[in-house]
Amino acid sequence: MNTWKSIIKESDFSLQNLPFGIFSSNRRQPRVGVALGDEIIDLAALHDIGLLGDLEIKKSVLINSSLNDFIGLGRKATTKVRSILQQHLNYPKSELKDYPSLFVQQSNAKMHLPVKIGDYTDFYSSIDHARNVGKLFRDPKNALLPNWRHLPVAYHGRSSSIIVSGEDIIRPKGQLKQDENLSPVFGPTQRLDFELEMGFIIGKDSQMGSSITTAEAEDYIFGLVLVNDWSARDIQKWEYIPLGPFLGKNFATSISPWVIPLESLEPFRANGPKQAPAVLPYLQYKGKRSFDISLEVAIEAEGGEEEILCQVNFKSMYWNMSQQLAHHTINGCPVRVGDLMASGTISGKTRKTMGSLLEITQGGNKPIKLSNGTSRAFLQDYDKVIMRGKCAKKELRVGFGEVRGKILPANLF
Ligand code: MN
Repeated sequence: MNTWKSIIKESDFSLQNLPFGIFSSNRRQPRVGVALGDEIIDLAALHDIGLLGDLEIKKSVLINSSLNDFIGLGRKATTKVRSILQQHLNYPKSELKDYPSLFVQQSNAKMHLPVKIGDYTDFYSSIDHARNVGKLFRDPKNALLPNWRHLPVAYHGRSSSIIVSGEDIIRPKGQLKQDENLSPVFGPTQRLDFELEMGFIIGKDSQMGSSITTAEAEDYIFGLVLVNDWSARDIQKWEYIPLGPFLGKNFATSISPWVIPLESLEPFRANGPKQAPAVLPYLQYKGKRSFDISLEVAIEAEGGEEEILCQVNFKSMYWNMSQQLAHHTINGCPVRVGDLMASGTISGKTRKTMGSLLEITQGGNKPIKLSNGTSRAFLQDYDKVIMRGKCAKKELRVGFGEVRGKILPANLF
């Protein structure tokens, strides 16, 4: 799909993509925008000139510090906005050309957390990740726990510490147990890690007591973002028995600012791995429910250069998003617009496809060498971690942009 706007061929934000986000600039208070190439289309300005047609969207939905009200209009409306934009941007004589103020350079804008997240759930859906971690912490022969192939394991995370790409991460403090035989001590984590994940944003409320089937699950998925589930491995290891992750996880989770609508990803549908043993009927599904998204993680040490640590594909996930949602609601738990469901760390079997330092360095035992001569078992202060995602097929590109964060030293007191 072509446009009269000049967009480089490799741009993440093609006319096929048109992701939604919340931006502000000098002259514009936070509002809904659509990324296109290096620019942002201001939907409130588009509304002002009457180009959103007969959608009857209230202005307050668009001049808003979150996408929730916009998403809440429903997929019919949000898809219509996309198709209006695609028509106008494709048509060489479009009247959009008369309104240069509809467009804001991304470099002149500040991106905000795109959604007000009510509830946040983090799954554990990569079989290689679960195996890699199981081998490190438990018996290598029984790396997967007995429930793993029967249900998408997850824990409830915390939405209050979800931040947008670019915000710094303060090294968390907590209880650390440095040796089996020693008592726990208190201090800044010595094992700060990242987790490469994808997340999906709920686009429609479900009812308390009802369950979403795998067949209807995608109606409830508005779009996808990149997620970095920052983790303090020493805090996590000591606290997680028997109730699971807590303070080792909930100090910060970063997401990318642009929500990629599910329909942008249509051309990149893929088959997931074969599931054996067969799953229970409520987890069975039809069609291609995985997506071919190339992901990477880079690290940039202070004064150093970006270095790629991991490259892996989202389609390798054992449990897909439809199954995750069906499982999440099978007990009648409702989901609401703006909820975030993250995939869990995405990893392959080999070192260069592992989505966390825990796996890459085998529990910190095999540090990696960086090109500036230093090595890393876990993250150091002022390290930056950058994650990117991209779909590509022939000429077609749909990218996620990036999620980045920098580690700052722990607060002293
Ligand atoms: Mn995680």
